[in-house]
Amino acid sequence: MIHSGSCHCGNIKFTIESEISKLTTCDCSLCVKKNALMTKVHDSAFNLISGEESLSEYQWNMKIARHYFCKKCGIYTFHRKRSDPQYFGVNIFCLDNFDKSGVPTRATEGENMTVNTKDPIETWPGPRVTQ
Ligand SMILES: [Zn+2]
Repeated sequence: MIHSGSCHCGNIKFTIESEISKLTTCDCSLCVKKNALMTKVHDSAFNLISGEESLSEYQWNMKIARHYFCKKCGIYTFHRKRSDPQYFGVNIFCLDNFDKSGVPTRATEGENMTVNTKDPIETWPGPRVTQ
């Protein structure tokens, strides 16, 4: 199934080819502020159609994940994941006509994976293997 998505102003357009069977939230300080609800897709299933010049990249913490948002309208569209850099996390609210009802949501732990806190973990455990 191909889902198309865009930011609010429409400069950034993309598609993902995915049966969306699981959604994730994350409790890291960035995702909490974005109120992010995401689905995960492999590189090969992600296609940026337009708006590369409108993408702004934000990095923090270990500067491994690459968080993208629209320069013009400010909407978070997708990010390249730290835990698994071959995958994107995609903001499901950017998808056209996607009905999230009935799709289970998993809460992932972000806060305790952060080194940029008062009480940081000593070492990042490294990328997780995707099932
Ligand atoms: Zn935009």
